[in-house]
Amino acid sequence: MFNVVIFGAPGSGKGTQSDKIVEKYGLVHLSTGDILRAEIAKGSEVGKIADGLISKGQFVPDDVIIAVLENAINEHPQAKGFIFDGFPRTVTQAEALDSILKKKNIRVGVMLNIDVDQNELVKRLLNRGKTSGRSDDNLITIQERINVYEQKTMPVIQFYDKQGKHVRIKGTGTLDEVFAQIEAAIDSRIS
Ligand code: ADP
Repeated sequence: MFNVVIFGAPGSGKGTQSDKIVEKYGLVHLSTGDILRAEIAKGSEVGKIADGLISKGQFVPDDVIIAVLENAINEHPQAKGFIFDGFPRTVTQAEALDSILKKKNIRVGVMLNIDVDQNELVKRLLNRGKTSGRSDDNLITIQERINVYEQKTMPVIQFYDKQGKHVRIKGTGTLDEVFAQIEAAIDSRIS
């Protein structure tokens, strides 16, 4: 079992790199954003809570998203490991993830922090917005998401830094250049 937290601002490329990690290492990809969008499409209770918050660039409450994540983990009892994408986004969520995994006698192996500068993030997200159909890929919401990221999510870096699990990945360059750094970080920690 090897678990990866893929971390970074909106537009940093977490989803794209997660696909490459799945392909090479066979881990199960859990994207809380994808799960919430599926809940919205289904019209579930969680979806109803998430809908307005997502389109404003705000977070779903910690207790809601923590329960969603724990359920998603439990749906994959045979997994070789997980990629957590979009979670944890607050220090409370990071603490919850540790305790959820501890109950199963497993742990986070590495936290990959994909670093991309703000101008590049805005450019990428506006570009994605032309085709993504996402309610949050517009300039006002993008700016709110980046602000919320800086205030609530950046402290999560220190949480993993203290545990010696934080690895900075330079998120600009080609997809393969970014992935090469990810492979090096995983290969040096996986047993
Ligand atoms: P991005 O990283 O591009 O912002 P995501 O698909 O990961 O996109 O998330 C989209 C939105 O879903 C977030 O802006 C937030 O509203 C909600 N969301 C996803 N994950 C979480 C989480 N761990 N905690 C709270 N809200 C979340």
